Amino acid sequence: MRITVIGSGTMGNGIAQVFAQYGHQVELCDISQQALLRAMSTITKNLDRMVSKGTIDENTKTSALSNINTHTDIAPSVAQADLVIEAATENLELKLELFQSMDRYAPPAAILATNTSSISITQIAGATSRPEQVIGMHFMNPVPIMKLVEVIRGYSTTDEVCSQIMQLSKDIGKIPVEVNDYPGFVANRILMPMINESIYSLYEGVAGVKEIDTVMMLGMAHPMGPLALADFIGLDVCLAIMQVLHDGFGNPKYAPCPLLVKMVNAGKLGRKTKEGFYNYNVEGKNFPVSKQFS
Ligand code: NAD
Repeated sequence: MRITVIGSGTMGNGIAQVFAQYGHQVELCDISQQALLRAMSTITKNLDRMVSKGTIDENTKTSALSNINTHTDIAPSVAQADLVIEAATENLELKLELFQSMDRYAPPAAILATNTSSISITQIAGATSRPEQVIGMHFMNPVPIMKLVEVIRGYSTTDEVCSQIMQLSKDIGKIPVEVNDYPGFVANRILMPMINESIYSLYEGVAGVKEIDTVMMLGMAHPMGPLALADFIGLDVCLAIMQVLHDGFGNPKYAPCPLLVKMVNAGKLGRKTKEGFYNYNVEGKNFPVSKQFS
């Protein structure tokens, strides 16, 4: 199958890698040439690691890399596609524009999917002339490792398109789960309020960063505490998803914690800015930056 992935950041390069590993031809498109170079280097490093662990052989690595072409222009990247997966920055206007272009330049039979974490599939589908062929394919980070794909049906998505995407997800070694299109779908509707509540616990002085994460790791067998997870996801992303839940349901229980808003305004976005609830400036030593919370 010919797959186009739009956006080659954290998620896009992982999606491209997995499809290429399973023998699909992948066109990887990003407006930034630098992002494409970074993506190819990340994919090469990931595949090298898999070879050294014996998970794949050298031939699979070589053919996976030769299955990927890169583009900075959307039209040629989608011209031959059977499936386009959009994994660009989480921004409604950007996604609506991208879906208009994907609709204009991709073959009429192509399925258009989005990896959005929270934006309505139905609203995105409305930007195209083929809403019945638009669907959510929500991969988890890191894509080559995480098994789940949340498959989200928009209002008009057909059964046939949904079952094709469910089958394709299984064919690339993933476990798809079908859900309907409501704010946050299932994954983020449950995860984000838990993260937001853990930030409220910190904000109200119930406990410190380490204590909150330790309670959730040891008490609930979570592999990572909710505050460390928020840093991993990005606090800006967490805030954007809480705002989608808050606007979408109109329920005050989804109001983002003022501390989350303050940290995003301060540019403390987690791992990507080297500081969030933990400080990542000292290699190998992550410690809570609790001074801001007293
Ligand atoms: P990212 O910032 O790492 O990458 C986004 C990429 O999109 C960048 O390389 C950027 O240059 C590119 N881009 C921006 N505008 C573009 C355009 N017009 N055409 C082509 N490329 C463009 O973001 P990410 O974390 O990979 O997130 C991508 C999508 O995946 C978002 O919708 C996000 O909500 C979703 N998502 C993210 C995670 C996560 O943990 N990071 C998990 C699941 C889903």
